Amino acid sequence: GSTLEIRDLHVTVADKEILRGVNLTVRAGETHAIMGPNGSGKSTLAYAIAGHPKYTVTGGQVLLDGVDLLELTVDERARAGLFLAMQYPVEVPGVSVSNFLRTAVTSIRGEAPKLRDFAKDLKSGMDALSIDATFAQRNVNEGFSGGEKKRHEILQLELLKPKIAVLDETDSGLDVDALRVVSEGVNRFRSGETGVLLITHYTRILRYVKPDFVHVFSAGRIVEQGGPELAEKLEAEGYEAYTKASA
Ligand code: ADP
Ligand code: MG
Ligand code: MG
Repeated sequence: GSTLEIRDLHVTVADKEILRGVNLTVRAGETHAIMGPNGSGKSTLAYAIAGHPKYTVTGGQVLLDGVDLLELTVDERARAGLFLAMQYPVEVPGVSVSNFLRTAVTSIRGEAPKLRDFAKDLKSGMDALSIDATFAQRNVNEGFSGGEKKRHEILQLELLKPKIAVLDETDSGLDVDALRVVSEGVNRFRSGETGVLLITHYTRILRYVKPDFVHVFSAGRIVEQGGPELAEKLEAEGYEAYTKASA
């Protein structure tokens, strides 16, 4: 299986150091939750891995099976097997879910799948996720509910079969439907060949997804690590202990 290795990652946003030495290893089949107070740098980690231009890496490495993703373009990262929900545009006017997904698969494989094969994969992906067939013909994110946005995200996972999936659920204000979709999606992938990095502020999602490892972020660093019991502790006690420690 694949391994994502983040080594001493330092990231600056608008001339301010946000990530101050992050170390984390995610292996295929593992689910890691990154939790922490607002503003601790969780989304910055996701954006930096994704290659967002606003986030300047000033030190460290992000290795996927030994290849430094930081040296690659955003497209090359995706082709290397990295999936980031946020690398895709929020609204894609006039593009159907089906066409969007076929384009994504094409860009990752380097060649277009045969229409018939793609249609088959799409159908089985949608069946597996209990997504109605009409969904494929709708325009991406046009009038999507929170749950439908998440269905689209998990459908991408299903079709792209990435080695590592980074899901930042912090700011998305998940309703119960969306929460269920993401949880089922993660639970589907967790035991397979995909390593999942689930970034979240709220412990709520961790009632549905039991992560193998929990990492607590504070002021741009991982300050505590543990198993699922750490998420329960956070749910009971909040982040106060960590925010005080870093102030
Ligand atoms: P979290 O996801 O844990 O809430 P973020 O990574 O979003 O934290 O933010 C960490 C810090 O970086 C915050 O102080 C935030 O204000 C700052 N920051 C993040 N993105 C930007 C940006 N695009 N421009 C300026 N500051 C930013
Ligand atoms: Mg350092
Ligand atoms: Mg965030």
